[in-house]
Parts: sequence; structure tokens; C-alpha cells
Amino acid sequence: MPSSTLFERIIRREIPADIIYEDAHCVAFRDIAPQAPTHVLVVPVAPVPSLDGPLDSALAGHLLHVAALVAKQEQLTEGYRVVINCGNDGGQTVNHLHLHVIGGRTMAWPPG
Ligand code: AMP
Repeated sequence: MPSSTLFERIIRREIPADIIYEDAHCVAFRDIAPQAPTHVLVVPVAPVPSLDGPLDSALAGHLLHVAALVAKQEQLTEGYRVVINCGNDGGQTVNHLHLHVIGGRTMAWPPG
């Protein structure tokens, strides 16, 4: 049996996390090392390794929709940033696709 990703284990409640949203296709929980006052990860239930897929457009769209929903739920009325790190150069450290929803402070650009 292939080993589970960290985020699969969170989704199965084997590892504790502060889950703030869940539906049939994805889960959102607070990042353990927040980079801003609000930092939430939106993660598909299916263990898609990265934005490189395999990922269909319906799930990709749903994840973006939920990112905006979570931002509203967190009352990020002044704006927020959604980030997907992909692969080594992108800074991805967990090989299970996730969207970072970051807000509660003014963001800098360009990113590091
Ligand atoms: P990335 O570097 O884009 O792959 O993002 C992985 C994110 O997962 C980082 O922001 C980590 O802080 C976060 N993370 C790692 N372990 C946990 C955990 N147990 N619960 C919540 N977030 C985590």
C-alpha cells in the first residue's frame, strides 16, 4: 500500500489540525507555521501530488472557489493572497496539492 501524505493523515483525523471547512472534495485547516495573522491551507481530499496533477478543471475550480469562501469566512475584507507552491523551485514541501490562503496584513511583492 502506498504511504499516505501528511495531509491525507490530517483529513483522516490521524494527525490533529484546526479544520475550519470541509466538503466532499476538499478540507481547509490552519497552517501550523502561519506566515500572516490568517494562514489557511485548502487541500483536496484526493491525494493529488501537485498543481501538475493529475487534476481536472472541475476540482481546480472548486479549490479556488473554496479559497475565496474561506477568505470570506475569515473576514479578510481588505484582501488576501492565494499561493500554490509547485515542485522544488516553487518551494513545495508537502507533496499533496494545497492552496495557501494568507491574509490579515499587507503582502509584499515580489515574493522571495
Ligand atoms: P508548501 O511549502 O507550499 O508545500 O506548504 C506546506 C505547508 O504545510 C507549510 O506552510 C507548513 O507550515 C504546513 N504544514 C506542515 N505540517 C503541517 C501540519 N501538521 N498542520 C498544518 N500545516 C502544516
